[in-house]
Amino acid sequence: MSIRTRLTLWYTFLLGTTLLLFSLALYSVLRYSLHAQIDRTLSAQAQQVGKVIESQQIYVSQDGTVDLPQFDVLLNVFASPAIYIQVIAADGQVVVTTRNLGKQRFPFDENVLNTTMDGQSIYKTLQVDDTSFRVYSTPIFVHGQVIGVVQVGQAIEVIEDTLGQVFLFLMGGVAFCLIVGALVGIFLARQALRPIEEINNAVTKIVRGQDLKQRLPVSGTNDELTRLTVTINGMLERLDNFFQAQVHLSADISHELRTPLTAIRGNIDLLKRGAIDVPAERAETLTIVDGELNRMSRLIADLLLLSQADAGLSLRMQTVELDTVVLDVYRQARILAKGVNIQLGHEDQAMVQGDADRLTQLLLNLVLNAIKHTPADGFVRISLYRDEKWVRVQVKDNGQGIASSALPYIFERFYRGEDNQQKGMGLGLAIAQWIAKVHRGEITVTSNPDHGSEFTLWLPLSTNIKYA
Ligand code: ADP
Repeated sequence: MSIRTRLTLWYTFLLGTTLLLFSLALYSVLRYSLHAQIDRTLSAQAQQVGKVIESQQIYVSQDGTVDLPQFDVLLNVFASPAIYIQVIAADGQVVVTTRNLGKQRFPFDENVLNTTMDGQSIYKTLQVDDTSFRVYSTPIFVHGQVIGVVQVGQAIEVIEDTLGQVFLFLMGGVAFCLIVGALVGIFLARQALRPIEEINNAVTKIVRGQDLKQRLPVSGTNDELTRLTVTINGMLERLDNFFQAQVHLSADISHELRTPLTAIRGNIDLLKRGAIDVPAERAETLTIVDGELNRMSRLIADLLLLSQADAGLSLRMQTVELDTVVLDVYRQARILAKGVNIQLGHEDQAMVQGDADRLTQLLLNLVLNAIKHTPADGFVRISLYRDEKWVRVQVKDNGQGIASSALPYIFERFYRGEDNQQKGMGLGLAIAQWIAKVHRGEITVTSNPDHGSEFTLWLPLSTNIKYA
């Protein structure tokens, strides 16, 4: 079922329920108050008749019967075209009625007789010749004795007819409102959902045409649909970037693999053809092949790690003594220093939550980069600072530095500086930054061409450890 149909149905259902409840409540209140009004009128009339009989005892003979001729006249004063009165003696006989009753009499049953003789009043709805009457019966007291009953009645046919018409009118009104409401609902739902339909058509066109460079037109209304359009445009942008990155990545990987493969094939061809017969040259050729194979293995291991990173690889986190890791990296760096002076600067004691192997890999990447880009008479200094919340590991060199135009890109995959003579693969810093981020940290860099670079690894300090 489409959203449009569902919206319309819900809207119509709610409107219908509300109108129906309102109409029923209105009808009930009206019915109750009309009936209450009649009851009040009947009771007031009956009280007056009763009072007259009680006060004018002259009309009541010693044995309790009413002096008919004169009372008849008085009783008719209380009657009106709609109000009928009849007086009944204690034995249940009708003593007198108003003239408008003609030959009709209100039926007087046991229940009414018993209740009124007990001194209580009672309302009843009675049928007299197919006409409904509301009748109020109340006892007449003389000297504290019940000597008879006054019954005052009113035909309620007119009220019932009126109520019936009101009911029909209300139900008709509800039905009419529902039809109009449903039509308006369909119209509104169509109007409200039309922009979504348009967005859907536009996105379908973009996806079919496989042109992720296209964007949806953004209207200036700044409503929910504008925001949806902006979000979809952002998503298209990201998808486009992602596909571009994939294309570049495959091109870069093939390029990276082709170079060592060509070198290996060339050297193996030479060996196969027996073109190298001097043992020393043959050993050198094999060393070149071995070097290229190592390079390929490293590249593949790095790519594997990055693809695992993309897939959300989680590390084995535990409390790590970062000062020990730094010391370890310092020792390894001294072995690989190629004449560069490796120094251990300030070293605080610091614990972090992390994966010791990955942190070692990260710091080694930074230190080996520094060694690569620093001349033999230069230095690389590793320092560790513990602040209140953060631990900083600085790797500072006084090598060639990084041009400010290159700084924003050095953490990207396969980015290599233009004057990079060292044949790096451009993955080291991307991996280092990923490791830092997984540790809820970051690597920042400041660099000054010809004066050197300073890479800083920021990691959150383990807070639950007390330091001496
Ligand atoms: P690579 O394999 O090329 O070293 P990285 O991702 O580790 O790849 O580094 C990216 C680029 O950043 C390098 O090619 C180099 O130009 C620059 N770079 C990194 N570290 C330093 C440094 N300490 N001094 C100068 N340039 C650096």
